[in-house]
Amino acid sequence: MAEFLPYGRQSVVAADVEAVAEVLRGDWLTTGPAVTRFEADLAGWTGGVPAVAVTSGTAALHVAYAAAGVGPGDEVVCSPMTFVATAATAAMHGATVVFADVSPETANVLPDAVKAAVTARTKVVAAVDFAGHPADLGTLGELAHEAGALLLEDAAHSIGGSWQGRPVGSWADLTTFSFFPTKNLTTAEGGAVCAADPELLGRAQEFRNHGLVRDRSRQRFPDEGGWHQEVHAFGLNYRLPDVLCALGSSQLSRLSSFVARRAELHARYRAGLSDLEGVALPVTLPGAEPAWHLFALRVLGGRRRELYEFLRERGIGVQVNYIPVYWHPVFADLGYRRGMCPGAERFYAEELSLPLWPDLSDADVDRVIGEVRAFFGHA
Ligand SMILES: *Cc1c(COP(=O)(O)O)cnc(C)c1O
Repeated sequence: MAEFLPYGRQSVVAADVEAVAEVLRGDWLTTGPAVTRFEADLAGWTGGVPAVAVTSGTAALHVAYAAAGVGPGDEVVCSPMTFVATAATAAMHGATVVFADVSPETANVLPDAVKAAVTARTKVVAAVDFAGHPADLGTLGELAHEAGALLLEDAAHSIGGSWQGRPVGSWADLTTFSFFPTKNLTTAEGGAVCAADPELLGRAQEFRNHGLVRDRSRQRFPDEGGWHQEVHAFGLNYRLPDVLCALGSSQLSRLSSFVARRAELHARYRAGLSDLEGVALPVTLPGAEPAWHLFALRVLGGRRRELYEFLRERGIGVQVNYIPVYWHPVFADLGYRRGMCPGAERFYAEELSLPLWPDLSDADVDRVIGEVRAFFGHA
């Protein structure tokens, strides 16, 4: 039987292994020079906007909402077409999450829906670059700022992409990344928060490290002694260790080739499926240079589950991204009802992510294309 193809997978080479081994042989395992270097390397991808490395994409979101000062009584306007963490981390700060519907084409949050959802209590508008296609970042930023809120871009899918000629990470007030193995680069577990504003950045750095203040000029008891550090606001330990930051820098040195190969494979799927009537293919809007994390096929005619099972039986590890966030029982129990974002629900009903990762061969993609065509009765 043919090899099982997962929907996503890391690409790790000998240089990555060596970078990690070198740190393990050295003095620093946790917070040392590899963290500083990885953060500087990340800024090379965000148009110079500084980054704070953290332990996951989920931690990055939790940190970003903390930096924005999100708390009880605040509202966070969020895309429902995302992994649950985008909304869950806001809820865990005590905020009320308000879902704004997405475009049926890109699955990215619609500016008009955001406009209708913001109120005087909105603290953050959280957009997601679904599948690696940037959201309408300029318009969303304006809408957020008019409402007195910040724009947070969950760029877990889209590092290496750009919108209207400017890189992901340079648009929003706060941008978050994930370095989970299926994402565009990996540190095993890991993530980062980017912010141009020094106050947002400083709060992100502090929340990552228990809220500890070491700068004597800011301490309430600066004469306590050389050992002294103070907590002014609660934080957590979300520090990404040197060992994993070394892997991150090594991976980042190949991000261009990862993005290019993902684009090639994405185009190969498009060409191989473009004449099928039973599917709709992903759309690229003018101004977008996606960093394709997913190939999000839409299966028409109510046949998504059937095709999912057909491909799984044939060793093709398709995935569904995502169940609308408010369908999760934790949100349903808070009173969120099905039907509130019909665009997201329809997209979910049709979506099927085909395998996409840099080390997939052309022959692997042709095999997937062949099986999808066979399902629809095409040679
Ligand atoms: C992966 C992902 C996250 C969470 O990242 P982890 O590193 O797995 O914690 C958040 N948002 C989106 C859109 C993601 O795809």
